[in-house]
Amino acid sequence: MAENSTSPNIAAIAGDDPFSFACHPQLGCFTQCCRMLELALTPYDLLRLRHATGLSSSQLLHRYVIVEQDQGEPFPRLYLTMVDDGYGSCPFVSSSGCAVYTHRPGACRTYPLGRGTSLGAGKCLAERFVLIREEFCQGFSQQAKHTPRSYLDDQETRLYNRSNDRVATILQHEAIRNGLIPTQSARDLFLLLLYDLDTFRERLREGFLAESGCPADDQHPETLSDEELLDYATELLPSLIFPLTKPTMAFRRG
Ligand code: SF4
Ligand code: SF4
Repeated sequence: MAENSTSPNIAAIAGDDPFSFACHPQLGCFTQCCRMLELALTPYDLLRLRHATGLSSSQLLHRYVIVEQDQGEPFPRLYLTMVDDGYGSCPFVSSSGCAVYTHRPGACRTYPLGRGTSLGAGKCLAERFVLIREEFCQGFSQQAKHTPRSYLDDQETRLYNRSNDRVATILQHEAIRNGLIPTQSARDLFLLLLYDLDTFRERLREGFLAESGCPADDQHPETLSDEELLDYATELLPSLIFPLTKPTMAFRRG
């Protein structure tokens, strides 16, 4: 979730609870939320930013992304690199708004809400929401009524959350919950398969599946669309990084 460096008031909110909020360019705070923030990026965010910028995944990672690996954290976290302009501005913000608006990251769409998931019984993902009230944000003085569910629908987050929920099953895999710390090569595969799709596609052409001991795939995954390839990678990855996990490979071309 986007997180501004001031101290916001963060409160849990149920999916059907009402709140009042509207954001538009006439507000004095317009784009203030796009500065002094930590913006964590999911694999689907990277995919969409590639579409917005026309850059390859490796160019995007090099130019716009910071990869952090904290001691004790199973997987690296990726953040958008902010501009060193004294305000820590997002590289995509301008006086007229967001330059990548159609492909903006899921956290930007979700704000002023935050969405989290946790694996419950039967491996079902339970969804939780928080409402984030920043002092500077004037959107709460507006009268438009929402609930978290209606707001996320309005902001077209469905494809983002669908992909993020698939990735969450890796981040919250049983092996991780039982304390497994992935090896460096497993972390490298996490970055390659989920965040560097162009390089992964190239590696598939060069025989990645055979090298990794995976059965040949007659779907020729290297020919999949970006969205399909990310789904494929998300299904393949657990069998490569978690001992004893068999590949499910229920993936089908969309
Ligand atoms: S209303 Fe809130 S979300 Fe909208 S521009 Fe202002 S600070 Fe950002
Ligand atoms: S991507 Fe767009 S909406 Fe998100 S912080 Fe940057 S300028 Fe703001």
